[in-house]
Amino acid sequence: MTNLDSKWFTEADYTNGVAFSLRVTQKLHEETTPFQHLAIYDTTDFGKLMTLDNMLMVTDRDNFIYHEMITHPVLFTHPAPRKVAIIGGGDCGTLREVLKHPDIKQALQIEIDERVTRVAEQYFPTLCESNRDPRAEFHFEDGIKWMANAKENSLDVIIIDSTDPLGPAEGLFNEEFYRQCHRVLTPTGLLAQQSESPLLHLPLLQSMHQAMRQAGFGRTRTLHFPQCIYPSGWWSVTLAGMGDLTEFRIADVVHKHFETRYYNADIHRASFALPTFVIEALLD
Ligand code: SAM
Repeated sequence: MTNLDSKWFTEADYTNGVAFSLRVTQKLHEETTPFQHLAIYDTTDFGKLMTLDNMLMVTDRDNFIYHEMITHPVLFTHPAPRKVAIIGGGDCGTLREVLKHPDIKQALQIEIDERVTRVAEQYFPTLCESNRDPRAEFHFEDGIKWMANAKENSLDVIIIDSTDPLGPAEGLFNEEFYRQCHRVLTPTGLLAQQSESPLLHLPLLQSMHQAMRQAGFGRTRTLHFPQCIYPSGWWSVTLAGMGDLTEFRIADVVHKHFETRYYNADIHRASFALPTFVIEALLD
């Protein structure tokens, strides 16, 4: 039954001719930060919703899928991750997942917009529950500049949890930035970056693989997963490294002492199984 009186938040993607709506009850917060428009809504079925520049960013109900899949596959692929940098990640959900790994010694979060984190702390307290972990370190600055100044061979894993390749995030999707990441990672270091929708953004996915390889990463590999609130409902993360990306610490996954609600060893393996049209595009 369609309740025409309901209010809806709709993200209309004019580039791809798609739109997605969540039924909302009220707008709880709104502000224009130095970088973007930020709003928080209460929804009827997805808990709280954060939007940035009127794009759906995170909800209580389904963020676990994205945050687990941008974090655990890359960390369990690395032989022994100790120092991790998250570029973006302002809602702090990725940081929380990284810090579930007991052997992580330091998690740096470089988020350009401090307001995203401060508002997330108010409206998404569970996503921010690890913010006071002594291993967490916050840098509110441009990830591009931060990486250019970072010490070489100083990171085991870099996770790029940014907004779409527009505005301040655009420079996080090119060879120059990947070259800096390659310099800052150790020889066994790995990069994981949110790489948009395999259905709607395949040319971007292709260009990311090419740029990562031109930057010196010998191997690149894309995994995918459902993500209801993002355009097409189908999202991806692309890994880059110098060694094999197919092997992972399966025993450590099976015997891990922390909870995940989407990620497990079978999902890890299956998420790298790609549809034929994607395989063919990435071979080009
Ligand atoms: N999960 C979301 C997605 O896939 O679209 C992204 C989560 S998080 C909210 C994205 C963050 O990237 C935003 O808080 C934004 O401020 C940040 N960001 C964008 N460009 C950045 C840059 N150049 N350096 C650091 N953070 C950046």
